[in-house]
Formats: sequence, structure tokens, C-alpha cells
Amino acid sequence: MIGTKGYAAQSPTTDLAPWDFDRREVGAHDVQFDIQYCGVCHSDLHQIRNDWFEGIFPMVPGHEIVGRVVKVGDQVTKFKVGDIAGTGCMVNSCRTCENCKDGLEQYCLHGNTQTYNSLDSYGDGSPTYGGYSNTIVVNEDFVLHVSDKTDLAATAPLLCAGITTYSPLRHWKVGKGHKLAVLGLGGLGHMGVKFGVAFGAEVTVLSTSPKKEEDAKKLGAHHFVVTSDPAQVEAVKGSFDFILDTVSAPHDFNFYLSLLRTNGTHICVGVPPEPAEIAAFSLLGGRKSVAGSGIGGIKETQEMLDFCAENNIVSDIELIDIKDIHTAYERMEKGDVRYRFVIDMATL
Ligand code: NAP
Ligand code: ZN
Ligand code: ZN
Repeated sequence: MIGTKGYAAQSPTTDLAPWDFDRREVGAHDVQFDIQYCGVCHSDLHQIRNDWFEGIFPMVPGHEIVGRVVKVGDQVTKFKVGDIAGTGCMVNSCRTCENCKDGLEQYCLHGNTQTYNSLDSYGDGSPTYGGYSNTIVVNEDFVLHVSDKTDLAATAPLLCAGITTYSPLRHWKVGKGHKLAVLGLGGLGHMGVKFGVAFGAEVTVLSTSPKKEEDAKKLGAHHFVVTSDPAQVEAVKGSFDFILDTVSAPHDFNFYLSLLRTNGTHICVGVPPEPAEIAAFSLLGGRKSVAGSGIGGIKETQEMLDFCAENNIVSDIELIDIKDIHTAYERMEKGDVRYRFVIDMATL
């Protein structure tokens, strides 16, 4: 076993604190990499609080993981010691179902194994522990190549916030000629803006935070709408082809659906703890759709990382010491992220 240092929540009501645990030895198909940076996703907060379902405790969160390979199994072909590697939200899947074969491991029909708060049912069945830790062992099929040309700390959030926004924009072919609204300017939202702009869409940020306007424009957004201002909202009614909804808290879908034009699509990537109520009238009036998208497959994640490396796209981050994780969570809960906290794992 590999002795590992991490930060864990012992229960849904306790703060994260240092916790030592063991990782499996590096198997024939495994890659071990020492973690240099790990992004802080709102999903970490949802899960340590049991917002979605009963979690597995102790829980070591973190699924935006980058670092340097220190050991590879003797059957590993894709990585060598010294490479820069990354892992996102998944560490395993069945590999044999229709979706896995299609490169959609995130939709594995038998369920993928999440990087933390999951049981590795395709491995030894033990709980998985995430990236708020000093080292990780992952099957090479779920390890990504990370460029050494971009800032590594700012690259970490691409492993979740990046792919979760890239994938739906690619799937719905959002680009030139489309009006895209990004709802919520946080970790996912700011990446949605960058990709929307890179793909040629006309991008509007819909935000509850008037003070984020200047940042939104710097990120490349063409317009900014404060959703609490009726005049600003009236001006964009019925205008968007797509809304990329990254909101983490309960919100009124019927209100936002009124901002879509005919045939428009509201894409849910945010996962509020409670289900939403949608009136049929909000959809049928303009043949509107509500859709959802979960992270992205491994092949597409690599494509996204390569696209970002070529186009110099990284996340806008605040690098933090791991002991400040609770302050980061508090700020995240208030919508005060600019625009992703990333933990410098050297501070562990
Ligand atoms: P985040 O950084 O906290 O950003 C969420 C943003 O939503 C906030 O900054 C805020 O932006 C807005 N917001 C918050 N409360 C709101 C409310 N009551 N009404 C309207 N807007 C509100 O979170 P994140 O890390 O980007 O994650 C966002 C959501 O996506 C979370 O639920 C997370 O679990 C989920 N997620 C899903 C996937 C997937 O595969 N689909 C992957 C990763 C994360 P403004 O200040 O601009 O209003
Ligand atoms: Zn995430
Ligand atoms: Zn599968």
C-alpha cells in the first residue's frame, strides 16, 4: 500500500481536516502521479454536505487533479515517469457497454467510478479518494496528458469545469451565429464563456452579481445581464439559442426559459440539491427544450485539453493553501469565486 496524506471530511457535518490513508500499489495498468494542484469544484461542497445523496465517509474530495508521474505499471504504454498527468471526475468504468465503447464513459450503463465518494466496483470495490491529497493511483485509461506549456495550476480546473462546459457546447454545436447565455459566473460559468467565445458564439452572462460585469467582459463575454434588474431582463427576453445553466442553487427555470427564443435549448450542467419545477407552458410556447450534460468522456477530455493548450485557454484562479479550504467554500457558497479556487498541494 502507498501511504497517502490528504484532507478529509469525517462526516457531512464536520470540517475537512488532515487524514492519512492508503492507496493501492501501482498495478500493471496503473499510473501513480504526485499531485501538484487540485481545483475546488462546487460538487466537492455538495458531496461533503450530502446535498445529493448519502456520501461515503471519510471523504477526500477533489477531481481537478494535475501532477507529475512518479511510477507506472509494467503494462502501461501511454505514460512514463516525469510526464505531467491529470485526472478528472472518473477513475473507472465497465469499458464494454455501448456508451463506454462510444467514448462516453461518463454515461457508462453500469455506472462509472467517480474519483471520490464512489466504490471502485471495476477494481477492488474499495472507496475512492480524491485529489485533496499528495499522490494518486489511477488506471492509465482514466489519466489525461496535460501540456507543460500552460500554467499547471490554472490548467487543473479544465479537468472538470473545462470539460463540463466544453462537452455540451460541442454536442449542440454552439458557435457562429448562435446567441449563447451563460447562467452563473463561477467556475463552470467562466469556462463556458471562454469556450463560447472561442467557438464563435455571441455570449451573454446572466448573473446575480452586478460586480462581476467587468470580469465577464474581460473573459470575452459580449454582454452582461443582471438577472434581478427587470429592464435588463426584458431586453433579452426570447433572444437566446442556448442557455448554459451552471447554477448550483435552486432557481426558477420558468423565468430563464422565457429568455430562450423559439427552438431554444436550456442545458443544465449545474446540479442544485432540489429538483426544479417546469411548467409545460414554458416549453410549448416556443418549442423549447430542457437538456442536461454530465462532464465528458476521456477522449473528449483529451481533445479539450489539447484545444486549450493550442488556444492558450486556462482557468482564472485563486491559488490557496489547503488550510484555507473552508474560507474558499464559504466564498463559493456566496457566489464569490473569481473564478476557481485551486489548492497548492505543496501546502498539504
Ligand atoms: P460555483 O463556482 O459556485 O458557481 C456557481 C455560480 O452560480 C455562482 O458563482 C453564481 O454566479 C451562480 N449562483 C449561485 N447561486 C445562485 C442562485 N440562487 N441563483 C442564480 N445563480 C446563482 O460552482 P461551479 O463549481 O461552477 O459548479 C456549478 C454547478 O455545477 C454545481 O451545482 C456543481 O455541482 C455542478 N457541476 C456539474 C457537473 C456536471 O457534470 N454536469 C460538473 C461539475 C459541476 P453569479 O454570481 O454570476 O450569479
Ligand atoms: Zn467538478
Ligand atoms: Zn460502460
